[in-house]
Amino acid sequence: MCATCGCSDGPGVRVIDPAHGHGPGDGHGHGHAHPHPTTTVAIEVDLLAKNDDLAARNRQWLAARGVTALNLMSSPGAGKTTLLERTIRDLGADLPCAVLEGDQETLLDAERIRAAGARAIQINTGAGCHLDADMVAAGLRALAPEQGSLLFVENVGNLVCPALFDLGEAARVVIMSVTEGADKPLKYPHMFRTADLVVLTKTDLLPYVPFDVGFFVECARRARAGVEVLQLSATAEEGLGAWYDWLRAEMNHSAL
Ligand code: MG
Ligand code: ZN
Repeated sequence: MCATCGCSDGPGVRVIDPAHGHGPGDGHGHGHAHPHPTTTVAIEVDLLAKNDDLAARNRQWLAARGVTALNLMSSPGAGKTTLLERTIRDLGADLPCAVLEGDQETLLDAERIRAAGARAIQINTGAGCHLDADMVAAGLRALAPEQGSLLFVENVGNLVCPALFDLGEAARVVIMSVTEGADKPLKYPHMFRTADLVVLTKTDLLPYVPFDVGFFVECARRARAGVEVLQLSATAEEGLGAWYDWLRAEMNHSAL
């Protein structure tokens, strides 16, 4: 069980290559959570320390292959997969992209990514509500991203515990849509505090929703001083150039 967030993340976790159908152990996970309140703090520290060691190993593995890994985090429905589909269709021809897709269940997002033209592995977390470095290590072995490629890790939709788990990424991208509350960075400060980039999606809907972009940027920067905030719409194809420039800069930066 995940002592940090109280979710079970053991037996339910599956790493699946959609090209080869369902993985072993397809049953639903049972975390067998047995809370022992007096030891919670110690378990949490151990769990995160172990995760950090594994994340450091992932970082070395990725660096040895010149792979730039980005950890994409958001609440469910912010448009992570839609943005990745558009990105792969626009950049995939010049720039090798691959995706690790984290969701509790289904192969749906990995299938969408493959249909867009990139390689993808689905990690189903069962009852678990975040990816951890060990799951990503298993996903990397299955995916084997090519030398010099861009690897997107689409985390489980959740603005809480994914912030605590280093996956070995080069940078963290926090994605939010204009259909959410502009004050979310104040409510979920841990997530925004570790963001290297904030992306505001679905900007084509701004005429129809009461979303104050200026206030959102102010809230995001209260959590992370000076953080860059990009505004875009993947479906209306607005503002994508700045996103692609940021991705290319990130690849050049991590290749140094
Ligand atoms: Mg998704
Ligand atoms: Zn969790």
